[in-house]
Amino acid sequence: MEFTRLNETHMKELKSMVTPDRFSTGESNLDLHSRDQSHHEASRPEAVIWPVSGDEVSEILKYANKHHIPVTGWGAGSSLEGNPIPVRAGLVLDFSQMNHILSIREEDFQVDVEPGIDYRTLNEALRHKGLFFPPDPGASATIGGMIANNASGTKTVRYGSTKDHVLRLSVVLANGEMIEMGTRASKTSSGYDLIQLFVGSEGTLGVVVQATLHLMGLPEEFSAAVVTFPSVEAAGKAVFGIIRSGLDPASLELLAPECVDLMNQEKDLGLDVSPTLFMEFHGPTKTHLADVMEIVHEICQEEGCSEFRPALERERRDELLKARHELGEMLMRHHPDRLVMAMDVAVPITAYPELIALARKESVSAGIPAYVFGHAGDGNIHVALMCKSEDQKEMEIVDRVSHRIVEKALSMDGTATGEHGVGIGKRKYMEIEHGRSLEWMKKIKSLLDPNGILNPGKVLP
Ligand SMILES: Cc1cc2nc3c(=O)[nH]c(=O)nc-3n(C[C@H](O)[C@H](O)[C@H](O)COP(=O)(O)OP(=O)(O)OC[C@H]3O[C@@H](n4cnc5c(N)ncnc54)[C@H](O)[C@@H]3O)c2cc1C
Repeated sequence: MEFTRLNETHMKELKSMVTPDRFSTGESNLDLHSRDQSHHEASRPEAVIWPVSGDEVSEILKYANKHHIPVTGWGAGSSLEGNPIPVRAGLVLDFSQMNHILSIREEDFQVDVEPGIDYRTLNEALRHKGLFFPPDPGASATIGGMIANNASGTKTVRYGSTKDHVLRLSVVLANGEMIEMGTRASKTSSGYDLIQLFVGSEGTLGVVVQATLHLMGLPEEFSAAVVTFPSVEAAGKAVFGIIRSGLDPASLELLAPECVDLMNQEKDLGLDVSPTLFMEFHGPTKTHLADVMEIVHEICQEEGCSEFRPALERERRDELLKARHELGEMLMRHHPDRLVMAMDVAVPITAYPELIALARKESVSAGIPAYVFGHAGDGNIHVALMCKSEDQKEMEIVDRVSHRIVEKALSMDGTATGEHGVGIGKRKYMEIEHGRSLEWMKKIKSLLDPNGILNPGKVLP
């Protein structure tokens, strides 16, 4: 696809569409929007625009489409697969100024938001009303970026991922047309589900300018446990047992010993340095949760758990959960001279113990710092390979380890990406994962974005 480089006239005309302080070609702004949190190579846009309304986005896209200028959306830049890197330059639309809560309808469990709001800011506002938006990627992330990547988190095993919480979307298409889709009703069987087409499309089909999200009520009672096992495989088998038992965990997180060690170092948690499951259950009463814990204990004992610490105090639970959330940031702090290559695959839960055993074996033999952890309840696993991107040998190791784990996941009817998206790094697996339906994805892309201006170089090979 041929794209136009921005000349003086383009710059002037684009600048006139917004206030002067919301258009920049400054070096530091271009650099700030040239890389996400991944190991992928940086690539600068030619200009950054901070829109404040759907109408502005519409006008900019109409212009960009006419002149064949690439446009890439930008939330918080926390992606791990190069998803928002403007690899073909052009414009970046940074949504940080479209960050308002437009209306909270607490009785309907719904909120209307602009795309640039951080999910944690949103949850802070909702907490006072006894509500929350469950997907929690842990990093600083915006609702627009979460919708585009179909982000998940520690609570997905119970509450689903972002796609399960989007009721309505306003999207600006490549030609500048703004369309609204969805309904405020909690269910519908009317027409094609366009929302699900845009969720997870990484800004390659349209730009989200408003969303209505479905919320959950904060649970009445919590219970949490930390359980250690002699091997990650045994922990993986316990995960399978808990999910199969229908106990409905709210979190079921796996941490290999190196992750526990790092969390101990950073937060002084005093946890045993062993393969660990951190689990949380939500329920109506303490009695119900005590019964649940008893069954969970039995399952973990069957898999030979070495220690079972149930009924953690609220403060201790919050401390552990916070540490788990911050694990990604700890990795970066602990290896300041390295970039994170965060492998992310997911498999059916029956395949989880085998996958986790392979991931552990590969990471131990990698010869570079590597950490295995995952949202185990969703069959999702991450291997964070900490690499020096300028070191050719290390990059080869990263590619090899990553490729073996993805291949294994695909051979088990899993996916090459459970939550980080395709971005740049997983495009090479699209054909093997999707077969002939990939051709239909390409047709949808050319229908909605015939000039290919929206986030080019992503998702499709
Ligand atoms: C430490 C760490 C831990 C993480 N843990 C998790 C995790 O547990 N689960 C998980 O799912 N992810 C995780 N991530 C990845 C990341 O946080 C998520 O993918 C998140 O959804 C990205 O949001 P963002 O606002 O940073 O989006 P960005 O990275 O800025 O952009 C993401 C994509 O959205 C597009 N985009 C942005 N705004 C719009 C818009 N308005 N319309 C259309 N497209 C748009 C961009 O072009 C890009 O393709 C983690 C990242 C880090 C750094």
